[in-house]
Amino acid sequence: MERHQIQRLRHETRRRILTLTAVERLTPNIARLTFAAPDLQDFVSASHDDHIKLFFPAPAGSDPGAKPVARDFTPRRFDTKTGALTIDFALHEAGPATGWAASARVGDTLEIGGPRGSSVTPDDFDWYLLIGDETALPAIGRRVEELRAGAPVTTCVVVASEADAQQFETRAIWSPIWVTRTSRAHDAASLCAALSTFQPPPGDGFVWIAAEASVARAMRAYMLEERGHPRAWIKAAGYWKQGQAETHERIED
Ligand SMILES: Cc1cc2nc3c(=O)[nH]c(=O)nc-3n(C[C@H](O)[C@H](O)[C@H](O)COP(=O)(O)OP(=O)(O)OC[C@H]3O[C@@H](n4cnc5c(N)ncnc54)[C@H](O)[C@@H]3O)c2cc1C
Repeated sequence: MERHQIQRLRHETRRRILTLTAVERLTPNIARLTFAAPDLQDFVSASHDDHIKLFFPAPAGSDPGAKPVARDFTPRRFDTKTGALTIDFALHEAGPATGWAASARVGDTLEIGGPRGSSVTPDDFDWYLLIGDETALPAIGRRVEELRAGAPVTTCVVVASEADAQQFETRAIWSPIWVTRTSRAHDAASLCAALSTFQPPPGDGFVWIAAEASVARAMRAYMLEERGHPRAWIKAAGYWKQGQAETHERIED
């Protein structure tokens, strides 16, 4: 079979009601929440960058009968033996998702939908480079953990503080670059500066990017224009947009 074939899968879409079973402050700005539900038995998440919809109650003051609000999150880990689903929340100033996660208690319930589909990037590239911010860390952590033994993978992630760096267990050869944020406006410049000494290993590489939309766009342009990386082997997404609620933007030309 030809190398580097991306596989697209569709899944049956279902709503599920989950019960929160554990709450942990993983790092100062990341809350790790673990959920269980009998109907998670047939939950499938085939790719590290899958997303599920989480449904939160409409904000106080909304019209009576207002629909719940939906936000996208990554299934950070799904344990097929125990049926436990882990989601990591990057806590920020305000929003229905961050507010819910910051005050969630064991026993609370949460409705989810999806994932509707998966886009599976193959494990056959010679190396991987994963770039992002805190919202991308769940997908980046999964990718690092799931890569084949010996695969070279570099991660370059901007976080709010040194203490927000994470450790991943992996058989891949993982080189982390952690960038401590100076200001959000400088995220792209700081990531580019941190990558200036990155020397790609020989062979074909896949670059995955997810961050605030303008940062993701700037990092994609950097990889294309400054580093000459092949367009087909870059995947970039805006996981949120400064000043705007609920956005998901696939970044292309
Ligand atoms: C495919 C996909 C997967 C994602 N996976 C995760 C995940 O696993 N974990 C995770 O934490 N996030 C993840 N996100 C990002 C998350 O969906 C957004 O951050 C979302 O906007 C948070 O919702 P909210 O209700 O907290 O804030 P919103 O109501 O959406 O936004 C309120 C305000 O906060 C700002 N804002 C939103 N997010 C952030 C942020 N992270 N930092 C600073 N300001 C912000 C907005 O610009 C807006 O001004 C993912 C997004 C996508 C598209």
